[in-house]
Amino acid sequence: MICVICKTGNCKPGKTHFSAFVKDAFVVVKNVDALICENCGEAYYDTDTAKHVHEQALQGYNNASDVEVMKV
Ligand SMILES: [Zn+2]
Repeated sequence: MICVICKTGNCKPGKTHFSAFVKDAFVVVKNVDALICENCGEAYYDTDTAKHVHEQALQGYNNASDVEVMKV
């Protein structure tokens, strides 16, 4: 698949970090499966993965286990 951000890079399966704001914290979920653009590094998640990392982010907020939580 061709990256929709830079329109030149090819996206390949790999691991990335997913980050999101959860309530008052910045949560990073590590080693998430994604398609990653070889050119600009944009990451694409499929629907199941996106749902999963959001759950992980919420859980991580509650008990920092596999994720990093930075309170702001
Ligand atoms: Zn790209």
